[in-house]
Amino acid sequence: MKISILTLFPEMFHGVFSQSILKQAQEKKVVDYQVINFREFSEDRHQRVDDYPYGGGGGMVLTPQPIFDAVDSVKNNMNDDCKKTRVILLCPQGEPYSQKKAEELSQEDHLILICGHYEGYDERIREHVITDEISIGDYVLTGGEIGAMVIADSVTRLLPGALGNAQSSITDSHSTGLLEYPHYTRPAEFRGLKVPDILLSGHHKRIDEWRHEQALKRTYDRRPDMLEKQELSKNDKDYLQKMKSNEENG
Ligand code: SAM
Repeated sequence: MKISILTLFPEMFHGVFSQSILKQAQEKKVVDYQVINFREFSEDRHQRVDDYPYGGGGGMVLTPQPIFDAVDSVKNNMNDDCKKTRVILLCPQGEPYSQKKAEELSQEDHLILICGHYEGYDERIREHVITDEISIGDYVLTGGEIGAMVIADSVTRLLPGALGNAQSSITDSHSTGLLEYPHYTRPAEFRGLKVPDILLSGHHKRIDEWRHEQALKRTYDRRPDMLEKQELSKNDKDYLQKMKSNEENG
């Protein structure tokens, strides 16, 4: 996969892309990140990329020309077998980002992430250049760069070969529709605090059952809204019912 990022602040990405799994994924050629300063595409003699809003009001607005041209240039430089491109605008008005969306994007060949700044974008960018608008949460950031990092990271770790153990992303919170079960590691006892016996039993089927119940419990305790969207088996419903009755009976 190729992920092209259009930004006015390319240096912000250096740290994030030069560490840990994102660095290794590039070395293994699982992903190729391309960070482009769209100011370089500005035809203004001072390389301006923003202007005052028509109709007045505060803040500056990103002009269409540099972004239209930067997107055209990135697309034209792709191989013919990689023309399927999603052009994503980072925007607090966009679709709320989720693991499901990360999974959907991880199936694509090429993503272009456009990072806004200032008051916003000229509406013609939104109407004519992009395929998706994504918000990373109901709050307003100064720019789209942190959102682009969130998308690049969450998509990259889903690409085949990115994680040392591909299994680990399958049971992640939100991938299964449940929050993940609790983890323990050595030592088996620390300051008198013991690891649950079941995890030391070596009985893999019972461990899987315990983990599934813990995932249900954790989701029920922390994110009951997620359970409402989930198709639960009869066993799961019985387990939750038993847990509720125990709670009610103290
Ligand atoms: N005036 C805009 C509005 O009310 O919708 C907010 C502009 S914000 C200060 C500047 C840029 O930061 C946006 O164009 C977008 O690229 C990015 N941004 C801010 N909050 C974001 C969020 N929650 N998700 C994704 N991008 C965001």
